[in-house]
Amino acid sequence: MTEFKALLVSEDATGAFKREVVGRKVEQLPQGELLIRVRYSSLNYKDALSASGNRGVTKAYPHTPGIDAAGVVEASSVAEFAVGDEVIVTGYDLGMNTAGGFGQYIRVPAAWAIKRPQGLPLREAMILGTAGLTAALCVDKLEQAGVVPEAGTVLVTGATGGVGSIAVVLLKQLGYRVAAATGKAEQGDFLRGLGADEIVSREELQQGGERPLLKERWAGAVDTVGGEILFNVVKSLRHSASVACCGLTAGVGFQANVLPFILRGVNLLGVDSVELPLVVKASMWDKLSLQWKLDLAPLCQEIGLAELPAAIERILSGGMVGRILVRLD
Ligand code: NDP
Repeated sequence: MTEFKALLVSEDATGAFKREVVGRKVEQLPQGELLIRVRYSSLNYKDALSASGNRGVTKAYPHTPGIDAAGVVEASSVAEFAVGDEVIVTGYDLGMNTAGGFGQYIRVPAAWAIKRPQGLPLREAMILGTAGLTAALCVDKLEQAGVVPEAGTVLVTGATGGVGSIAVVLLKQLGYRVAAATGKAEQGDFLRGLGADEIVSREELQQGGERPLLKERWAGAVDTVGGEILFNVVKSLRHSASVACCGLTAGVGFQANVLPFILRGVNLLGVDSVELPLVVKASMWDKLSLQWKLDLAPLCQEIGLAELPAAIERILSGGMVGRILVRLD
C-alpha cells in the first residue's frame, strides 16, 4: 500500500471547511487507467472554490482539489501510455469530483492525459497550467476572429491574476500593444514588467452605467472577470473587434443590449479550457512549447503543499498576483 501526502479539504459538523495536509493511500484513489506520480501542480481560482466548499465545483467532501497535474506514469492499463511517460492532465473532472493534483498521486482515465511536448518540461507546463492554457485559447480565439497587432490596443482584465498575467505576456510577445486592467494600483510596475503598455484601473471599467455604447477603444480583449466589467468592455470595443470571455471573478451576470453587436459588429467569444476535446488541448500545449513558448519566471512563485492553505486564502480574496506553482515532493 503506497502512502502519499495530499491536501485534504473536509467539512466539520458546523459546516465549516478545513484544509490540512494528510497521509493518503493509493487504494483510496478512484479507479482509472493511469496511476500518475504528480511532480507539479498549480493553483487556479477554481481550486480555491473547491477548497472552500463550493458545491458548483465539488459536490462531496472530504476531497483533494487540484485541476492541474504534471507527473510520471507509474502504472498504465492502456497501450498508449507506458510506465515512465511524462504527462500533463488539466481539466475534465480532475480536482472537481476526482481527487486532484494537490496530492502526490492521481489516478485518472487515459483520455484525460497528454504526453508532455518535448520542449515543455513538467515544471514549465504547470507554471502555465489551466491558466496558461486558457490565456492561449483566448488569444487564439481572438486571432481566429481577425484580431491582429496592427488593429490597435488589446485589453486584458484581471491582469495580475493567473490567466490575466499570462495573457499579458503572450500578447506582448506576439507584438500587440497591451492595456492591463487591474484593481491593484500598486502592481503597475509588475504589469509593465510583463509587457503592459498601459495600466487601466478596474474602477474605470466599472463606469458604464445605462449608456448603451461607450467610446470605441479596444481592438480586442481578454476578459477574465465577467460581470458588468465584461459588458462595459463589449460596449467599448472598436468596430468588428472581439472579446474572449473566460472568467467570473467580478460576477456571472451582466445587463446587456444589442447595440454594440448590431451597430459595431463586435463579437463576444466564449472560452472553455476544461471540457475542450483532448486533441485541441494537445495542439495548444504544442503551440505553448514552440512558437508561443513564454518566459514566465517573473510571474511565478513556487510553494510546497504546506503553504497551499495560505495561498488559497489569498486567491479567494482576489489578492492573487501571477502564478503559484505547487511542488509535490
Ligand atoms: P486569479 O484569482 O488568479 O485571477 C483573477 C483576477 O481577477 C484577480 O487577480 C484580480 O485581478 C481580478 N479580480 C478578483 N476579484 C475581482 C472582482 N471582484 N472584480 C473584478 N476583478 C476581480 O484567477 P485565475 O486567473 O485562475 O482565473 C480567472 C478567472 O477565469 C476565474 O473566474 C476562473 O474561474 C476563470 N477560468 C476559466 C477557465 C475556463 O475554462 N473558462 C479556465 C481558467 C480560469 P486584478 O486585481 O488585477 O484586477
